[in-house]
Amino acid sequence: MPEGHTIHRAARDHNAALAGHALSVTSPQGRADFAALTGGADRVTLRRVEAYGKHLFYVFERGRTVHIHLGLFGKFRRSPSPPPPPASTVRMRLEGPEVTFDLRGPTACDVITRGEKAALLARLGPDPLRDDADPQAFFDYLGRSKVPIGAALMDQSVIAGVGNVYRAEVLHLLRLHPLVAAREVPRAVAEEMWTLLGLLLRKGVEDRRIITTRGLVATRGKRVTRGESVHVYGRQTCFTCGGPVGRFLLRARTVHLCTGCQPYATAALPVRAKLATTTSLTEMSVTGTSEYPTLDAILGPGDHDSALPAPARR
Ligand SMILES: [Zn+2]
Repeated sequence: MPEGHTIHRAARDHNAALAGHALSVTSPQGRADFAALTGGADRVTLRRVEAYGKHLFYVFERGRTVHIHLGLFGKFRRSPSPPPPPASTVRMRLEGPEVTFDLRGPTACDVITRGEKAALLARLGPDPLRDDADPQAFFDYLGRSKVPIGAALMDQSVIAGVGNVYRAEVLHLLRLHPLVAAREVPRAVAEEMWTLLGLLLRKGVEDRRIITTRGLVATRGKRVTRGESVHVYGRQTCFTCGGPVGRFLLRARTVHLCTGCQPYATAALPVRAKLATTTSLTEMSVTGTSEYPTLDAILGPGDHDSALPAPARR
């Protein structure tokens, strides 16, 4: 399933290509009804595209909005305008003067009212990719919840935009086992988790893919093979220590982890608490820079992985 970086990237690209233009909005597949949007007009002006977690909102003139959730299979395809005839599977075609986007296979693609949009947003936790995000609700939830941290991170009402890959990677980077109860995660570690997710997601927006093993500089354009892009997700062996990667089902989604680096014991948490005091990850959130800081800048020069704490030994 696309994670938040894919959604925010789509919003950025679609804003650049379509915002401010009068668009033809059609459903070649016939499964979406845009009559309430167009009011019978051939074209309607798109004001902007907003991303929130895994949701996209196309805000048109007079506040009319199309809500899209890509789900597991949704995909956009871009072509120059005028586009070729659409395939019969295209749920929505947005045709601008220069660029056309075809959307196939989304879970949701509907015209919604302001009230429906507000209700939808009210159900979402803070999104680390949004400038207006307030992580307090995320910290509060973790502080009181017995839910495993691995499940909390996938709950869109707790934090929006994180999916299975970022979940596995951030828990690995923080040396946390997915089954540790959320409330046993020290506040300082929860704050690092929020900051780290924001940095990794922003890097994902730049890279257009998830790469967690190359520091925080955008790696776009550089060759990073699938096998060396992540630490544990989808791997047989841990990128960090070479040990076997384990997996189990947690609320019907497979969690990937290295039990060597992420032992299940709250005894591992003092290691994390020590990291919280010896690094300045959290300081990055207050610099206000739009540049993506390197891990060197955060952790000091040297090997990034060795700058993180050694895996707790059992
Ligand atoms: Zn490992």
